[in-house]
Amino acid sequence: MAGGGQFEVIGFDADDTLWRNEDSFQAAELMFAEIVAPYSPEGIAVLDVLHATEADNIPISGYGVKAFALSMIQAAVTATGGRVPASVIGSLVDHAHQMLMHPVELLDGVPETLSTVGQTNRLVLITKGDLVHQTRKVRTSGLEHHFEHIKVVLDKDVASYRGVLAEWDIDPSTFLMVGNSLRSDILPIVELGGHGVHVPYHTTWEHEVVHDHNGGFAELAQIGDLPTWLADS
Ligand SMILES: [Mg+2]
Repeated sequence: MAGGGQFEVIGFDADDTLWRNEDSFQAAELMFAEIVAPYSPEGIAVLDVLHATEADNIPISGYGVKAFALSMIQAAVTATGGRVPASVIGSLVDHAHQMLMHPVELLDGVPETLSTVGQTNRLVLITKGDLVHQTRKVRTSGLEHHFEHIKVVLDKDVASYRGVLAEWDIDPSTFLMVGNSLRSDILPIVELGGHGVHVPYHTTWEHEVVHDHNGGFAELAQIGDLPTWLADS
């Protein structure tokens, strides 16, 4: 099988590419709305307040559950004019702790796919978010041994990918990135002269949604289709 011979290294995103992630944030938002809305004035959309707070805080606190927890607390106070009780704040903090400790749930076909493509290509993992939580997820996922390098980055933009690939001595033109986010996983790599395979997750965080792009990448319905795509490409 000549599969994937044109790609020296294949990089994988982690959240919503190898394991479930966004579902837990959406569940947390529903919980937030349910317990905060009763204390907010009529006509205040508490989820809009949360989303705006999250967007404002990304440059300050970055991505991940801990940043999200701070945004939930801030938004709960803002959306209720300070009337939210301490018991509700306690529930938000407890929920965030549960999210941090929740076991990793792998997506279908992930271990098999990594085993297969790992026979023909070098594999690396590039994920963004909270260093402690992401590291814990990688360690407990049972997938760590598939990857030659693992990196948790602050943000996944052209500059950060350029830095990581240079550090690992990988020529972008021989690099293929696989991920669920066009904004974070695919478009920056294509801009660098690399290659992308977009595997959409069933839901995408609003912040990651991109409507305008020039293509230049492939799209697969599921990660399990990757070995066949590599063999045919
Ligand atoms: Mg992702």
